[in-house]
Amino acid sequence: MCNPRVALAIIASMDKKIIIIGGGASALMLASLLPKNCATVIESNPKLGAKILISGGGRCNITNTRMGTGYYLADAEFVQPSLKRFDEKALIDWLGARKLHPVIQKETQYFCRDSSKELLAVLLKESQKQTILLSEKVLEVSKRENIFYVKTDKKTHTAQRVVIASGGLSFPTLGASSIGYEIAQSFGHGVIKTAPALVGFTVQKEQFFFKELSGVSCEVKIRVAEIVCEGSLLFAHKGVSGPAVLDASLYWEKGQIEIDFLPYFSWKSVLGSKKQISSLLPLPKRLSKAFLVQFALEDKPCNQLSKEEMQKLYSLSHYRLAPAGTFGYTKAEVTKGGIDTSEIDNKSMMSLKEQGLYFIGEVMDVTGRLGGYNFQWAFSSAYSCAQSIKGEMDED
Ligand SMILES: Cc1cc2nc3c(=O)[nH]c(=O)nc-3n(C[C@H](O)[C@H](O)[C@H](O)COP(=O)(O)OP(=O)(O)OC[C@H]3O[C@@H](n4cnc5c(N)ncnc54)[C@H](O)[C@@H]3O)c2cc1C
Repeated sequence: MCNPRVALAIIASMDKKIIIIGGGASALMLASLLPKNCATVIESNPKLGAKILISGGGRCNITNTRMGTGYYLADAEFVQPSLKRFDEKALIDWLGARKLHPVIQKETQYFCRDSSKELLAVLLKESQKQTILLSEKVLEVSKRENIFYVKTDKKTHTAQRVVIASGGLSFPTLGASSIGYEIAQSFGHGVIKTAPALVGFTVQKEQFFFKELSGVSCEVKIRVAEIVCEGSLLFAHKGVSGPAVLDASLYWEKGQIEIDFLPYFSWKSVLGSKKQISSLLPLPKRLSKAFLVQFALEDKPCNQLSKEEMQKLYSLSHYRLAPAGTFGYTKAEVTKGGIDTSEIDNKSMMSLKEQGLYFIGEVMDVTGRLGGYNFQWAFSSAYSCAQSIKGEMDED
């Protein structure tokens, strides 16, 4: 047991009251929103916001005009208050006030105009008012006598509040680690099974012919677990990727998915047509020819197709495949699963098990679909946390 006098002395010597573990999107937003000089951000990388830079193909898909709990694999009641309190409009206004004006593309998605560096620059400028420690890896967190001890590979820091903003497991080369889950578990929190998400699928033997189509893409609809994901599918050397596949991977556990390779095609146009099959189907030629080989169909005029052959061709609209797996954490944009949100307060992001311990961003069991939803969650949850901590600090 720590002597109360010693504890008081430690509190008095605590240079910063709040320690934020991780220096990614959620941490930088929190550091920006908190009052000056009250927090220390500890990041294991030599630079902050590494994922922001590579996101959205280098232009960061920040958020989406279509927002709501339906775009998240999460407990809707948990995510809703934060998404409402700091929604996409509030985020765009906040960025606008700092001279960043994202552009809408693909109808609903907000991107940086030229480069993700624009978003990172805003967050770096705003968070400068806090202490930033780089190349310092957090190893564990403990608590005694109301004081948190954050042990790193360099020293042990003390704090009154600790915010876990250490993200998920995807892209380990950019600093991803399991530390957030480990700390949560050490304080008695449950962690929902994690898996790579927003990631490509590897295929089984029946689809090994896909490899020869590497580089070909087409528009599809993918049905997985009652959800329909729409967009491009890209054949890759390891399997299939592209926006529609990435989106579908969020909902895939195991078993079959159904792909419609001709979502906007009228099958009536095949009947009586004198055109060759590969000329009529609105698919890249390489793709239709590969499927014809698979279906053991000759590339002949459509009006010469037998009923049975027509059935085979029609299966392109409900092509079933059971992925062998995913491309894994090295390629996944996010991690699904994470810290159980039933043990976190949905207004403050504070642990319901440990006073003063908070979670923000991807480390929690909240995963958004493709389209800017994961950054929105990182920023919305950081906002909730900031509001709560500011309110408490006023009372301190
Ligand atoms: C290739 C790619 C593209 C993406 N594109 C988009 C997109 O366009 N739109 C979108 O909404 N989302 C996108 N995402 C997802 C988005 O980047 C994340 O959901 C978001 O960054 C999560 O923010 P976070 O703060 O929770 O975690 P992160 O941004 O991952 O930050 C966590 C930080 O914690 C640090 N850390 C980990 N362990 C330790 C430790 N032990 N000690 C100290 N620090 C530690 C990490 O180095 C990291 O910097 C993309 C992800 C990837 C990988």
